[in-house]
Amino acid sequence: MPELPEMEAWRRELDAPVSAFPIAKAGPAHIATLKTFEPPLSALDGRRFKGARRRAKRLLFPTDDGELVLLVHLMTAGRLRYLRFGERGPKTPALQITFEGGTRLVLTEAGSKKRAGVWLLTPEAADAELAHLGPEALGFGGDRLAELCAEESRRLHSLLRDQREIAGIGRAWANEILHRAQLSPYALSRELTREEVDRLAAAIDAELERGLELRERGANDKRTYRIHDKLGEPCYVCGTAISRVDFEEHTIYYCHECQTGGRVLKDRRLSRLLR
Ligand SMILES: [Zn+2]
Repeated sequence: MPELPEMEAWRRELDAPVSAFPIAKAGPAHIATLKTFEPPLSALDGRRFKGARRRAKRLLFPTDDGELVLLVHLMTAGRLRYLRFGERGPKTPALQITFEGGTRLVLTEAGSKKRAGVWLLTPEAADAELAHLGPEALGFGGDRLAELCAEESRRLHSLLRDQREIAGIGRAWANEILHRAQLSPYALSRELTREEVDRLAAAIDAELERGLELRERGANDKRTYRIHDKLGEPCYVCGTAISRVDFEEHTIYYCHECQTGGRVLKDRRLSRLLR
């Protein structure tokens, strides 16, 4: 799933083009993708987007008259593309917005499951839709992270992915961040020293910024990630083979030399305990 660096790179790429021309025709949209029916998508026709905004892993396209906001959540397989006039696009996009002059913004989704979502909302409704999200992960800071870690005891990998507490990190960047911070994915937040909290806060910024820079240059997953999805490959710090463990519904990648003091982590999937 695209996370903060990927979404922010897309936002920057789309910001100018989506606001260049008024919307000629909004739609069609796949019935499973469009989550709202009032106002109808056609309410966008003739209006102009102010640009692209981002909140956590979502993109927002507010209209320049301040009346509507198109909110897009790509989930795992959704992709947004801006097509020049005459450029060939997908046959059945999950959403298409055609601008005057013939350029298009299209949302596609790989696979048959439609999980990506599009909402057309008033600014107030958009705020309500996003109200559950915690502060943005980038620039979260050591003081705020110290407070969050002390609130309740949570395993770090799970805490970093909790969008209500800290927004924009998913499982891939949680792996990268925890590795850079040299902390175990299973470490309990309340047991961190202040020095470790500061290290984690610095790692959040450093890794998300590294990711954003790479994604803006068009780097793929293989080039961007150094730990995530790298089972058996050498750790870039110590050369130890990267390990993998299942946790909740996620797979965690980590270096047992850099992060867990040589200990190999055991699966903590509920289904395995019940077996
Ligand atoms: Zn290592």
